[in-house]
Amino acid sequence: MVKTKRIALAQLTSCWGCDQALIDLHLKLLDVLPSLDIVYWPAVVDYKLQDLETLSKHSIHIGLVEGSCRTEEDIHLLKVMRDKSKTLVAWGSCSVYGGIQGLANQWDLNELLDRKFLKVETITDGRIPKENVPGFTESIIPNTDIVDFDLVLPGCPPTSENTLDALSALLNNKPYDLPDKTVCDQCPMEREEKHIKQFRRTHEGRIDPTKCLLDQGYLCLGFATIGLCGAQCPSKATPCKGCFGPPPSVVDHGAKIISALGAISDMPVEKLEASFPDPIGSFYFTDYASSYLSKIRRNMKQAE
Ligand code: SF4
Ligand code: SF4
Ligand code: SF4
Repeated sequence: MVKTKRIALAQLTSCWGCDQALIDLHLKLLDVLPSLDIVYWPAVVDYKLQDLETLSKHSIHIGLVEGSCRTEEDIHLLKVMRDKSKTLVAWGSCSVYGGIQGLANQWDLNELLDRKFLKVETITDGRIPKENVPGFTESIIPNTDIVDFDLVLPGCPPTSENTLDALSALLNNKPYDLPDKTVCDQCPMEREEKHIKQFRRTHEGRIDPTKCLLDQGYLCLGFATIGLCGAQCPSKATPCKGCFGPPPSVVDHGAKIISALGAISDMPVEKLEASFPDPIGSFYFTDYASSYLSKIRRNMKQAE
């Protein structure tokens, strides 16, 4: 019998899809719910920040942080979660790498505000809000560069089972290690030696649902993406976009992808380059904020 543990689930800038995936466990939630004393979960119950701030240091056994820091309020909440939690989990690819919103690190904050509040086509009387809003951060710095975490669980979102497995391990004081495997290792598709002569968008041609999508010229990133999701996209004939990020032994997801594509492509460099009009969006779907490119840009901006 596991002793009840105090848990807090906090949301920074995010879509809250990681919460949704947890709730999608439905009756399987009963495997862990009786062992959890929920002390903060504003996605589900009307907790206020003050409820969290007034808890004692390390009084939460397990803290789950979803989302990344786009506002000063996010940074405050992240630091409070670190202070109050014994075991802090970076929950989902937003929390581990910065998430899809990290792609905004390709632009300066002023350019983003300008586009979002003044120039977007649907706005007629644009203004940048200044009152009663938390200040925006200059860029998205990955949570893991702001505070220390005890466990990271990537995924956009992590599957319901991933979260259940991690929670069960923590509740039973067992380790939860990420596998150094890729989506390809979990994928049932037939594959051949790769000599790709042309890349295609998913709406081009007809996908053979039994054969490796990359062999067919569709950009499937399973070869560079951690194998945690059970290859749920390629096994439904949909290319992997790499939403879980790289396996632990890969430092920079996009760099790994570019190097592998160079090795398996049988085409001139110019044609390969032209195949990917949005290389950052294609190769760093959820983890651009934690890439070398983004960090170099941030350092250059700070040095200006
Ligand atoms: S990791 Fe994905 S599902 Fe989870 S909050 Fe971020 S965007 Fe949503
Ligand atoms: S379809 Fe994708 S995940 Fe499956 S083997 Fe090919 S590259 Fe790997
Ligand atoms: S197959 Fe790829 S894109 Fe699909 S859920 Fe898994 S990691 Fe994400």
